[in-house]
Amino acid sequence: MTMHCAQVREHGDLDQLLLEQVPIEQPSFGEVRVRLRASALNHLDLWVRKGVAGHRFPLPLIPGCDGAGVVEALGEGTDQKWLGRDVVLIPGLSCGLCGRCRDGDDMLCPEYGILGETRNGTCAETIIVAERQLLDRPEGISWEQAAALPLSALTAWSMLRKARLTAGDTLLVIAAGSGVGTMAIQLGQLLGARIIATGSSAAKRQLAEKLGATQTLDPADPDWWKEVKSHTDGQGADVIFENVGHSTFEGSLKALARGGRLVTCGATSGSQVTVELNRLFFKNQQIIGSTMGRRSDLTRLLRLQQQRKIEPVIDSTFSLKQIHSAHQRMESRQSCGKIVITPWKE
Ligand code: ZN
Repeated sequence: MTMHCAQVREHGDLDQLLLEQVPIEQPSFGEVRVRLRASALNHLDLWVRKGVAGHRFPLPLIPGCDGAGVVEALGEGTDQKWLGRDVVLIPGLSCGLCGRCRDGDDMLCPEYGILGETRNGTCAETIIVAERQLLDRPEGISWEQAAALPLSALTAWSMLRKARLTAGDTLLVIAAGSGVGTMAIQLGQLLGARIIATGSSAAKRQLAEKLGATQTLDPADPDWWKEVKSHTDGQGADVIFENVGHSTFEGSLKALARGGRLVTCGATSGSQVTVELNRLFFKNQQIIGSTMGRRSDLTRLLRLQQQRKIEPVIDSTFSLKQIHSAHQRMESRQSCGKIVITPWKE
């Protein structure tokens, strides 16, 4: 038996994203095989395809971090209850045994990895994962919605937690149209923050407002950070949610309040930035790095999804066969929210 999948054998442009048919594997001890009903793209998929200087991905690799589907085969030592069950995959991989894992900080595990980055991911018809990567799909939530949630919600939640966002704070979300940005607005609102957002197109700014941002800005205006000041009585934002890096970082730091926290999870425009240290220490500010989040938080986030308190914004849906168009859309920066991949269609 074979399955279709997207595969990266060498880094490069779209033509290095190969559609292949590969044998369907049997799950080993402690593993299960999931028939995927939906998966979702993240910016990481582009890095996996294009490569990152100084970083080695284990090629060949099936990309894709997010996925939801039905358990169709069990390896030895797994619980029978999973067979036929609808599940969402935990994208973060950790040992489950070390001190960090036992403390619940599994993203600090020395063996930490991500589906589709350190081992084969979800841009395929099936996937083999450890039983401990499974969570039940929230009742009443579609496959597309279930697959669109994990990585972006987990990332956004973890960032806001580390930045200690509290009710009454002003939260500035940079690139509100991204998967993590749309989630940060919704989670920030749940936490009682007042939200300002940047969006590079009118559609993205409208979406941010619909999700709850009270002010939106266009980052193409070189003085956009001054507007943050004017919307906050000259104080600046208490928490800034960054995932763009180079092109916005200096403006972000200028828009940060005294005692403010800037938290970053990505650098889609480049990772080299300038930091004016005088301003940072005189203003008692913090810059915080963040990647992924705790397994236990994902359980909480799925509950919020089931209660309809958060809802991933789905930009578009492509079948696995159309994965090139999906990558192209993500790379063009036109997408607002998540790009979902559904099973192969002839
Ligand atoms: Zn561990």
